[in-house]
Amino acid sequence: METARYLLLLNPKSPSWSDVSGGHNRLRWEDIAVALSMGNLNQLSYVLARTKYCQDSSCAESLVKLVSGLVKSLAKKGQWRARGTLLTKLAQLACYESLQTSHCPACRGRGLRRNGMECDECHGSGRKPMSARSRYRFAGIDKRNWERRWQHRYEDVFRHLCDAENQALSHLSWQLHSDS
Ligand SMILES: [Zn+2]
Repeated sequence: METARYLLLLNPKSPSWSDVSGGHNRLRWEDIAVALSMGNLNQLSYVLARTKYCQDSSCAESLVKLVSGLVKSLAKKGQWRARGTLLTKLAQLACYESLQTSHCPACRGRGLRRNGMECDECHGSGRKPMSARSRYRFAGIDKRNWERRWQHRYEDVFRHLCDAENQALSHLSWQLHSDS
Protein backbone atom coordinates (compact mmCIF):
# COMPACT_ATOMS: atom_id res chain seq x y z
CA MET A 1 0.00 0.00 0.00
CA GLU A 2 1.59 3.20 -1.20
CA THR A 3 0.21 5.42 1.57
CA ALA A 4 1.44 3.18 4.36
CA ARG A 5 4.87 3.00 2.75
CA TYR A 6 5.06 6.76 2.73
CA LEU A 7 3.99 6.91 6.31
CA LEU A 8 6.91 4.70 7.28
CA LEU A 9 9.32 6.54 5.07
CA LEU A 10 8.41 9.95 6.36
CA ASN A 11 8.22 9.25 10.01
CA PRO A 12 11.66 9.44 11.55
CA LYS A 13 10.38 7.71 14.68
CA SER A 14 9.41 4.66 12.71
CA PRO A 15 11.46 1.57 13.46
CA SER A 16 11.22 0.65 9.79
CA TRP A 17 12.76 3.90 8.65
CA SER A 18 15.98 2.33 7.37
CA ASP A 19 14.26 -0.79 6.02
CA VAL A 20 11.91 1.22 3.91
CA SER A 21 14.32 3.83 2.70
CA GLY A 22 16.92 1.13 2.07
CA GLY A 23 19.76 3.48 2.97
CA HIS A 24 19.03 5.89 0.14
CA ASN A 25 16.27 8.28 -0.79
CA ARG A 26 16.23 9.63 2.73
CA LEU A 27 14.11 12.68 3.17
CA ARG A 28 14.93 15.47 5.52
CA TRP A 29 12.14 17.27 7.27
CA GLU A 30 13.07 20.41 5.33
CA ASP A 31 12.31 18.61 2.05
CA ILE A 32 8.95 17.61 3.40
CA ALA A 33 8.20 21.13 4.64
CA VAL A 34 8.97 22.55 1.19
CA ALA A 35 6.88 19.89 -0.56
CA LEU A 36 3.96 20.60 1.75
CA SER A 37 4.02 24.29 1.00
CA MET A 38 3.99 23.77 -2.80
CA GLY A 39 0.69 23.63 -4.64
CA ASN A 40 -2.58 24.15 -2.88
CA LEU A 41 -2.92 21.64 -0.12
CA ASN A 42 -5.87 22.35 2.18
CA GLN A 43 -5.07 23.93 5.52
CA LEU A 44 -5.99 21.01 7.75
CA SER A 45 -3.84 18.58 5.75
CA TYR A 46 -0.97 21.06 5.72
CA VAL A 47 -1.01 21.74 9.45
CA LEU A 48 -1.47 18.08 10.33
CA ALA A 49 1.41 16.92 8.13
CA ARG A 50 3.63 19.75 9.25
CA THR A 51 3.05 18.81 12.92
CA LYS A 52 3.43 15.11 12.33
CA TYR A 53 6.18 14.75 9.76
CA CYS A 54 8.23 17.85 10.47
CA GLN A 55 7.80 17.46 14.22
CA ASP A 56 6.81 21.07 14.25
CA SER A 57 5.32 21.61 17.69
CA SER A 58 4.45 25.23 16.92
CA CYS A 59 1.88 23.87 14.44
CA ALA A 60 0.29 21.58 17.02
CA GLU A 61 -1.61 24.46 18.55
CA SER A 62 -3.03 25.53 15.18
CA LEU A 63 -3.97 21.92 14.54
CA VAL A 64 -6.02 21.71 17.74
CA LYS A 65 -7.67 25.03 16.88
CA LEU A 66 -8.61 23.88 13.38
CA VAL A 67 -9.97 20.57 14.63
CA SER A 68 -11.93 22.32 17.39
CA GLY A 69 -13.57 24.45 14.71
CA LEU A 70 -14.36 21.32 12.73
CA VAL A 71 -15.90 19.60 15.77
CA LYS A 72 -18.00 22.67 16.53
CA SER A 73 -19.37 22.83 13.01
CA LEU A 74 -20.16 19.09 13.03
CA ALA A 75 -21.86 19.54 16.39
CA LYS A 76 -23.97 22.37 15.06
CA LYS A 77 -24.97 20.45 11.94
CA GLY A 78 -25.74 17.27 13.86
CA GLN A 79 -27.36 19.13 16.78
CA TRP A 80 -25.10 17.44 19.31
CA ARG A 81 -25.79 18.60 22.82
CA ALA A 82 -22.48 18.83 24.61
CA ARG A 83 -21.75 20.20 28.04
CA GLY A 84 -18.64 22.01 29.23
CA THR A 85 -15.40 21.23 27.49
CA LEU A 86 -16.53 18.03 25.80
CA LEU A 87 -16.17 19.31 22.23
CA THR A 88 -12.68 20.64 22.93
CA LYS A 89 -11.76 17.33 24.53
CA LEU A 90 -12.96 15.43 21.45
CA ALA A 91 -10.86 17.69 19.23
CA GLN A 92 -7.78 17.14 21.40
CA LEU A 93 -8.38 13.40 21.42
CA ALA A 94 -8.67 13.24 17.64
CA CYS A 95 -5.43 15.23 17.25
CA TYR A 96 -3.62 13.10 19.76
CA GLU A 97 -4.77 9.90 18.14
CA SER A 98 -3.89 11.13 14.70
CA LEU A 99 -0.38 12.17 15.75
CA GLN A 100 0.48 9.03 17.64
CA THR A 101 2.58 6.67 15.64
CA SER A 102 2.08 3.18 17.00
CA HIS A 103 1.71 0.71 14.18
CA CYS A 104 -1.04 -1.83 14.03
CA PRO A 105 0.55 -5.03 15.34
CA ALA A 106 -1.65 -7.24 13.17
CA CYS A 107 -0.34 -5.92 9.84
CA ARG A 108 2.78 -4.09 11.10
CA GLY A 109 1.52 -0.80 9.79
CA ARG A 110 0.96 -1.97 6.24
CA GLY A 111 -2.81 -1.75 6.39
CA LEU A 112 -3.01 -5.02 4.47
CA ARG A 113 -3.02 -8.67 5.41
CA ARG A 114 -0.67 -11.16 3.80
CA ASN A 115 -3.26 -12.10 1.22
CA GLY A 116 -3.51 -8.45 0.17
CA MET A 117 -6.90 -7.89 1.81
CA GLU A 118 -7.53 -4.90 4.06
CA CYS A 119 -6.44 -5.50 7.66
CA ASP A 120 -9.43 -6.16 9.96
CA GLU A 121 -7.78 -4.70 13.03
CA CYS A 122 -7.02 -1.23 11.72
CA HIS A 123 -9.34 -1.14 8.67
CA GLY A 124 -6.43 -0.31 6.41
CA SER A 125 -5.09 2.69 8.33
CA GLY A 126 -1.99 0.81 9.52
CA ARG A 127 -2.38 2.39 12.92
CA LYS A 128 -3.10 0.72 16.19
CA PRO A 129 -6.49 2.09 17.18
CA MET A 130 -6.90 3.45 20.69
CA SER A 131 -9.15 1.38 22.90
CA ALA A 132 -12.70 2.61 23.40
CA ARG A 133 -11.97 2.82 27.12
CA SER A 134 -9.05 5.20 26.74
CA ARG A 135 -11.11 7.28 24.33
CA TYR A 136 -14.09 7.81 26.62
CA ARG A 137 -11.91 8.31 29.66
CA PHE A 138 -9.97 11.02 27.88
CA ALA A 139 -13.21 12.68 26.84
CA GLY A 140 -14.52 12.40 30.39
CA ILE A 141 -17.67 10.47 29.44
CA ASP A 142 -19.01 7.24 30.90
CA LYS A 143 -19.08 4.07 28.85
CA ARG A 144 -22.81 4.01 28.32
CA ASN A 145 -23.03 7.58 27.11
CA TRP A 146 -20.01 7.02 24.86
CA GLU A 147 -21.49 3.96 23.25
CA ARG A 148 -24.93 5.47 22.87
CA ARG A 149 -24.04 8.88 21.52
CA TRP A 150 -20.44 9.83 21.21
CA GLN A 151 -18.57 6.94 19.70
CA HIS A 152 -19.92 7.32 16.17
CA ARG A 153 -19.66 11.11 16.41
CA TYR A 154 -16.03 10.82 17.41
CA GLU A 155 -15.36 8.36 14.61
CA ASP A 156 -16.80 10.89 12.22
CA VAL A 157 -14.38 13.56 13.51
CA PHE A 158 -11.46 11.17 13.39
CA ARG A 159 -12.28 10.14 9.82
CA HIS A 160 -11.87 13.79 8.78
CA LEU A 161 -8.35 13.73 10.18
CA CYS A 162 -7.52 10.44 8.45
CA ASP A 163 -8.78 11.89 5.16
CA ALA A 164 -6.71 15.04 5.70
CA GLU A 165 -3.63 12.94 6.33
CA ASN A 166 -4.23 10.82 3.25
CA GLN A 167 -4.54 13.98 1.17
CA ALA A 168 -1.27 15.26 2.60
CA LEU A 169 0.41 11.97 1.79
CA SER A 170 -0.73 11.88 -1.80
CA HIS A 171 0.28 15.53 -2.13
CA LEU A 172 3.76 14.67 -0.80
CA SER A 173 4.01 11.65 -3.00
CA TRP A 174 3.23 13.82 -6.01
CA GLN A 175 5.49 16.74 -5.03
CA LEU A 176 8.46 14.63 -3.99
CA HIS A 177 8.35 12.50 -7.10
CA SER A 178 7.73 15.21 -9.63
CA ASP A 179 11.14 16.82 -9.17
CA SER A 180 13.20 13.62 -9.14
ZN1 LIG B 1 -3.64 -3.38 10.63
